[in-house]
Amino acid sequence: MKIAVLPGDGIGPEIVAQAVQVLNGLNLGLEMTEAPIGGAGYEAAGDPLPEATLQLAKEADAVLLGAVGDWKYDKLERHLRPERGLLRIRKELNLFANLRPALLYPELASASTLKPEVVSGLDIMIVRELTGDIYFGQPRGISTLENGEREGINTMRYNESEIKRIGRVAFDIAMKRSKKVCSVDKANVLETTELWRQVMIELSAEYPEVELSHMYVDNAAMQLVRAPKQFDVMVTGNIFGDILSDEASMLTGSIGMLPSASLDANNKGMYEPSHGSAPDIAGKNIANPLATILSAAMMLRYTFNDEANATRIEDAVKKALADGYRTADIYTEDTKKVSCSEMGAAVLAAL
Ligand code: NAD
Repeated sequence: MKIAVLPGDGIGPEIVAQAVQVLNGLNLGLEMTEAPIGGAGYEAAGDPLPEATLQLAKEADAVLLGAVGDWKYDKLERHLRPERGLLRIRKELNLFANLRPALLYPELASASTLKPEVVSGLDIMIVRELTGDIYFGQPRGISTLENGEREGINTMRYNESEIKRIGRVAFDIAMKRSKKVCSVDKANVLETTELWRQVMIELSAEYPEVELSHMYVDNAAMQLVRAPKQFDVMVTGNIFGDILSDEASMLTGSIGMLPSASLDANNKGMYEPSHGSAPDIAGKNIANPLATILSAAMMLRYTFNDEANATRIEDAVKKALADGYRTADIYTEDTKKVSCSEMGAAVLAAL
């Protein structure tokens, strides 16, 4: 079992180190090799996705990623910026399905900005399409019109097969959960998502046990903070999923708790926390490593089909929380504030 470990920038190296330590604690004989990506890739090889890193990722069974990005790279040409490395590796590995569970640990009910009764028991799986939509559609760019004014263009596009394959992922996951899928679109305004809705309805015929509902994205954004427990599996396109999954993360207390998996058609995957590189707290050893540790658990579950060890990691995280350990982002009175590495050690000890 080969894992490409790509720590990236900002807090990436700090949080990935904790996840690697937890994976090593399981003694599974995993072969882990590190390589630079993002700003670190640019510094090492002048490219946010160096060729050697891409090769390593292609040859691995799974990729464990920290995060990329730093304000200091904002002035680089667009293709050299760290985020481009991330978009490219997703595309190169054909990782079209992004799974983002938003699960509230009972111990963290008071860390959410929402009332405990609104979020307690929350367990949502957001399935986001990751390789299409307005983030990749052509034409794109900034051009100058004849009158000298500048114009920015991006194109929202989805074809039927792209919609169908992400829909299938959502329906399959729903079959293992409570058999409810809510498809989020903007079919009243955008033709691309009108097609999205039609294809989801057609696909649902293959899953008679699953209850399919539809919601416009603006309403979904509102319902997520009004009554989030109405949702089980949500499936949506790239841009809507990007925004809704960050919103959902806050229901769980902190974006530092949210893991993610990005899968190809054969369950090869890249696993990373849903948050970014948090340059504001990088190097201080105060970041929350749990989203990355939980991403490693998802790796065992989805790529290596090892439910037992995935659950062991998740139980160890629960135990560390139940024992009162909290990084600064989830700290509340009467709990023990710990650093990033101390939280990693607490999970390892629980394991
Ligand atoms: P961010 O997620 O990095 O940070 C948002 C806020 O959440 C910050 O206040 C940060 O301190 C906090 N935070 C994030 N992760 C945390 C953790 N594990 N523990 C505690 N607090 C945490 O988003 P941003 O500030 O908008 O972006 C920062 C950089 O990250 C940018 O360069 C952006 O492009 C990049 N980014 C990368 C990814 C990725 O690699 N997948 C995703 C989003 C943003």
